[in-house]
Amino acid sequence: NNDQLDRWDRDYFFHPSTHLAQHARGESANRIVTGGSGVYIEDRDGKRSLDAFAGLYCVNVGYGRTEIADAIAAQAKELAYYHAYVGHGTEASITLAKMILERAPDHMSKVYFGLGGSDANETNIKMVWYYNNILGRPEKKKIISRWRGYHGSGLITGSLTGLQTFHNKFDLPLSPILHTEAPYYFRRPDMNMSEEQFVAHCVSELEALIEREGADTIAAFIGEPVLGTGGLVPPPEGYWPAIQAVLKKHDILLIVDEVVTAFGRLGSMFGSAKYNLDADIITIAKGLTSAYAPLSGSIFSKRMWDVLERGTDEFGPIGHGWTYSAHPIGTAAGIANLKLVDSLGLVDNAGSTGAYFKQAMQSAVGEHANVGDVRGEGLLCAVEFVKDRDNRAFFDPSEKVGPRVAAALLSRGVIARAMPQGDIIGFAPPLCISREETDIVVDAMKGAVTEVLG
Ligand code: PLP
Repeated sequence: NNDQLDRWDRDYFFHPSTHLAQHARGESANRIVTGGSGVYIEDRDGKRSLDAFAGLYCVNVGYGRTEIADAIAAQAKELAYYHAYVGHGTEASITLAKMILERAPDHMSKVYFGLGGSDANETNIKMVWYYNNILGRPEKKKIISRWRGYHGSGLITGSLTGLQTFHNKFDLPLSPILHTEAPYYFRRPDMNMSEEQFVAHCVSELEALIEREGADTIAAFIGEPVLGTGGLVPPPEGYWPAIQAVLKKHDILLIVDEVVTAFGRLGSMFGSAKYNLDADIITIAKGLTSAYAPLSGSIFSKRMWDVLERGTDEFGPIGHGWTYSAHPIGTAAGIANLKLVDSLGLVDNAGSTGAYFKQAMQSAVGEHANVGDVRGEGLLCAVEFVKDRDNRAFFDPSEKVGPRVAAALLSRGVIARAMPQGDIIGFAPPLCISREETDIVVDAMKGAVTEVLG
């Protein structure tokens, strides 16, 4: 029964990303989700909510897709597991690798499979180090990430993440990880800066960091095409070309973290294609299986792969691999998922419905005295609250404006995410959302903003 389940939950379950003490005291909500269909989930009390964050921006094809469930069941019956160490594999894993490369930018060459975005980025950093060792420059090792970037919560990946909560009390970031300015135009250091001036500022910050540390100590730069967990921030015009020019000048590899953006979220199959990014490695996860099974990938460019391959001739087999790399249940789910992304036209829908949604959100709440910014790309949309529009002043965190708006949305049957830093409400619905369903989200947001802020 429900009371018993709540007690067991408090007694036995260490939840990720929770205020443990609050949860143990029973102060936080305990929503036990029991089912879902399309953009809706249902909880144990029979309440239906429109999930405008697609779980953790991952259930891209929507809930209840029997095609994927059937593919998982068929794979489990035929062969639930075999490992993928060199010389072994399964049909599902090989097929999915091919499908990913058919969709990725042309210069990409090989996929390594993991389980989630964090371990994929862990793989990436190791491969960057291995690569520089093969090239005889082991001291070229530091990685530049951005403040407000999110790349996972392991030791290296939590270090890459540029959000304080993921560093505090863990002695992170580790020393090879450095951070530079986020391309967050709304929070530019000087209100009078044009977009162009702000891009020049980001570039000069990056160049100063490289200069300070020495280009021969810097291996790679990692970034999301559009900042995700750090606030759902599309880059200002001209940002990526200017950053890429600096990286090329200093022979610094580019890791494009597409855990959120790959497979359609921005209205293009890959964010790298949308922003013309010449990636050395692309990280994928979430939308690869729409979270029907855990699976991630690191896609390596041909030029990087050639060096890695050569390295194994010199050093022997590569000492990197997980038991569950290329797990067939995950890769079977991935195949069925990518087929659905194609057959349902979800990439195009993310572009067109996303543009409609952002425009409607802007019209509904954009003029509110406490709304500083409405922004987005494809089916990522954020509303940022400010105490004062003229100077972009933050609310005191104790006012909990973001969480209160999220709670007011939930009471209206819509799930959105209060992003972890700043009073930002994020929307990232399943890519199958219809215009009518986005209207429901926008109406709920209008009501929630009025309820909390007047
Ligand atoms: N990279 C990005 C851009 C992400 O948004 C996330 C998770 O939200 C990760 C990496 C980490 O992925 P995971 O939580 O699957 O380890």
